[in-house]
Amino acid sequence: SPAAQANGVTPVNGHTPNGAQQFGSSERIQVINDEKNFTPDLASQIDRWGLRDVGFSYNIVAVFGSQSTGKSTLLNRLFGTTFDVMDESQRRQTTKGIWMCRGKGMGVMVMDVEGTDGRERGEDQDFERKSALFSLASSEILIINLWEHQVGLYQGANMGLLKTVFEVNLGLFGKKAQDGTSGRTLLLFVIRDHIGVTPLANLQATLTADLNKIWESLSKPAELQDRLLSDYFDLSFTALPHKVLAADKFESEVQQLRKRFVEKGREDYLFKSAYHKRIPADGVAFYMEGIWEQVQTNKDLDLPTQQELLAQFRCDEISTLALAEFNEQSKPQRRPVEAGRVVEGLGSMMRNWKTQALTRYDRDASRYHQGVYKRKRVDLLSVIDSTLSPLFLGQLKNLHKSCLVAFKKEMLEGMRGEGYNFAVVVNKAREKCETRFTEGAKEALLEDTDWTWEDEVELLREEVGIVADQCRKDETKKMVNLIERTCKRQISEPVDIHLNKAAPDMWDGVLIVFKTTLEKAEATYLTKAKSFNCTEEENTTALATLRKRAWLVLRAKIDEQVADPVILGKLRGHFEDRFRYDDSGVPRVWKPEDDIDSAFKKAKDQTLELIPRYSKIAPVDPSNEYTLPSEPSDSLSSTEEFDFPATLTVFTETKSLDLSARFRKDADAYYVEAKRSTVSSVAQ
Ligand code: GDP
Ligand code: MG
Repeated sequence: SPAAQANGVTPVNGHTPNGAQQFGSSERIQVINDEKNFTPDLASQIDRWGLRDVGFSYNIVAVFGSQSTGKSTLLNRLFGTTFDVMDESQRRQTTKGIWMCRGKGMGVMVMDVEGTDGRERGEDQDFERKSALFSLASSEILIINLWEHQVGLYQGANMGLLKTVFEVNLGLFGKKAQDGTSGRTLLLFVIRDHIGVTPLANLQATLTADLNKIWESLSKPAELQDRLLSDYFDLSFTALPHKVLAADKFESEVQQLRKRFVEKGREDYLFKSAYHKRIPADGVAFYMEGIWEQVQTNKDLDLPTQQELLAQFRCDEISTLALAEFNEQSKPQRRPVEAGRVVEGLGSMMRNWKTQALTRYDRDASRYHQGVYKRKRVDLLSVIDSTLSPLFLGQLKNLHKSCLVAFKKEMLEGMRGEGYNFAVVVNKAREKCETRFTEGAKEALLEDTDWTWEDEVELLREEVGIVADQCRKDETKKMVNLIERTCKRQISEPVDIHLNKAAPDMWDGVLIVFKTTLEKAEATYLTKAKSFNCTEEENTTALATLRKRAWLVLRAKIDEQVADPVILGKLRGHFEDRFRYDDSGVPRVWKPEDDIDSAFKKAKDQTLELIPRYSKIAPVDPSNEYTLPSEPSDSLSSTEEFDFPATLTVFTETKSLDLSARFRKDADAYYVEAKRSTVSSVAQ
């Protein structure tokens, strides 16, 4: 600053006695300039002083007093600060305003208030009043610096200044003084150029009496009428020898006084906690600026409102910072979740980010106005939760999908090969699927949210059910097919035999075989179906299908046996057995005297009787009849109408006639052959 240069003061940049560098620790700042403007750089300066994050572990002290009473000199000696000191040779006035330094090696912000004696110089007292307000709202200790010879001069400038201080203080802390803690300030009187003729005790008594006189003369609001000076202020007095005339003594006494600012354990330690204005260090700049703005616009300075405004501003800032860090952390996990991946340990990550953000917020914001701090914390929480909520929902969705896929895979693996129990396979897979989902969902669920996963697990259960049903249907179909094939194998040979023999009770035999086989097939189905957990309805349709298929298998077998060449062969065989063999099964050799005609007729007639027997499935014993139970629907095969009674007819009347005609021709051939054989035997 020009003033600094004019006075030849060079800011000592950052060498502590032990040699460690502390950048910015010796920098000073003009908080309020001579145009009464507040600096925009205080926050960053406090940061450079290294005090930003100390919370309440700092102190503020300000000095008041007439011009050129050695205030800056005193502060520099006491706190190792670098305030401008008036150049002796030039006797030039230092700049007006409020300056601030950090105490060297101590967490103290020191304010040097210049030009507070406008009264003496005939100027307006505007700045004096404003700087008093400003200093009282933030400082723990106000050093009142005065010459010994000023003591007792009630009409002097100092007393006017003090009156201002008292008035201003009543306005600021008047109503709040009841709790006895906040708003209390120490007035430390430093009497300069104390010659020693008048003992300090006497000076102190005079000053105290004067102060009380001033206090009584104040026009106080009605409700504060009974308040005493001591309700708001502690008073302390000290004297310093002449700086030039008793230089050594001055130095040693200043050092004694310094100790009272530094050594916390001392009984006469000056920075008592009761004086602290409870503004967190990171909010001091904003707070002071707010105070100054109020002071400047001559508005009533309401400290609780100021503190709340400060809290709102700072809590928002702290919250924003915590959120930025939180977003930085959570962002990388958004993509995989959106891409459909189940992120391992997402819940614990989310918990971590959330805790960190809240811890950070709590650490810095809890020092501010509790109502505001708590309100903003609720806001922060809801932003955090609503940021995390899509991750949670995404994770659930992805978990749902992957669990369903795993379930299907598990089912397929379980149903590989023979001999598995379908119900066991389904239950195992279902349980595994549900456990996996539930564990994943619980992991991702954050405490103290309204998040749920119960609906999602219900949905998963439904889908698992659908997949299991489909598997069961497929399996049932396969099983029915398998039983059908077994059926076919089992009836084939016995039916062949019966149809070949063509006994009168041929159909009784066929139907008994069929019914026994079908009974076994149904029993097999029911045993297996039990392990499939099939429904009653499914069993009914499956059994109906099985019966119909079995019947069709039988009919196919019969059709195969009555195909033209096959049945003609059967008839021929039947005829031959009777015509070419005698009753004991010996081949006949026809002699001329044999009654070939009768034998031929008998065998032919007996054979022709078979045709109607083959033509219709009709057991001799009615109890052997079989009727396919009529079923309304068949889900396993086509649903076209099935006319069971029609299937009892093996072949039609027309075919019967055709068969008998063709058979007669065959028989006739045998007859001719027989006749010829007798002729040839006679000829021999
Ligand atoms: P401020 O205007 O109150 O800040 O006073 P300064 O610290 O600038 O000092 C004003 C003048 O008084 C300077 O020339 C100092 O050298 C001188 N001074 C400082 N301390 C003392 C002191 O204790 N006694 C006397 N007599 N002069 C002092
Ligand atoms: Mg000064």
